[in-house]
Amino acid sequence: MDYYDELLSACKEAGRTEFIGRTVLGYEIPIIRKGKGKAHTLLVGATHAREYITADLLIGMAKAADFDVDIVPCLNIDGVRLCKYGPEAVDDEDLRSFLIRVNKSKDFSLWKANARAVDVNVNFAAEWATGKSNVFSPAPSDYVGRYPESEPETFAAAELVRKGAYAQLISFHSKGEVVYHGFGNNYRYKEEAARYAESLDYILTTAEGSAGGLKDYFDVASGGLGLTTEVGSDALTHPIGIEELDNLMKKHLKSLEIIDENGRKIARSLYGSGD
Ligand SMILES: [Zn+2]
Repeated sequence: MDYYDELLSACKEAGRTEFIGRTVLGYEIPIIRKGKGKAHTLLVGATHAREYITADLLIGMAKAADFDVDIVPCLNIDGVRLCKYGPEAVDDEDLRSFLIRVNKSKDFSLWKANARAVDVNVNFAAEWATGKSNVFSPAPSDYVGRYPESEPETFAAAELVRKGAYAQLISFHSKGEVVYHGFGNNYRYKEEAARYAESLDYILTTAEGSAGGLKDYFDVASGGLGLTTEVGSDALTHPIGIEELDNLMKKHLKSLEIIDENGRKIARSLYGSGD
């Protein structure tokens, strides 16, 4: 079965599934909506293609979550399919040869970008194109794109943030066992960030020189708590294999309670209502 079909059926098994937009190649991007009330928390995985273990992790977390939470397990579906299937993931011949040229190889297993060689996680409108690792032409990673939200995946996630009035967003990446918080002037929920990091036994830190990321955008646009969680030990190599999933799941299922508490607490402080 194709990765996309597997993703969709896993989402539907985990909860009520809707769509937030389409990828460059036209795949509808699923969102799992858990619970019956207003979700204060948004979890997003696989913004970077080769980090698709985070999609499996988020589907597992969605199955276990018994509170109001919205989950986009796989934002960069095209990129993940490129990682898994190589150039065959792309039907259009011109696009396929462009991508092979950019990648300088037919092996896409370490690809991070989307199907236009833009790195979605540096394409958001948060001090866009000022990050220390940014590049300014198509590349397997770190290319900021032609303008903020130029990519449909970025736009879909940003629209979700704008419309969803979330208090907390966690963007899942791999690897390093680190939680990043804070951007611009928004470091105000450090205590909640610390509790979450502690529940995972991960280090809490700030990302110096980062810009244009989903968490960065959330910090600026919502005023709530934006986090980037790097799952998996630094000793593992990309892409992290499915055999690590059990270990990751055990850790992250334990963090669900804190995620729920923090979401409601921050919503109360932002909007005066957290239930
Ligand atoms: Zn990443």
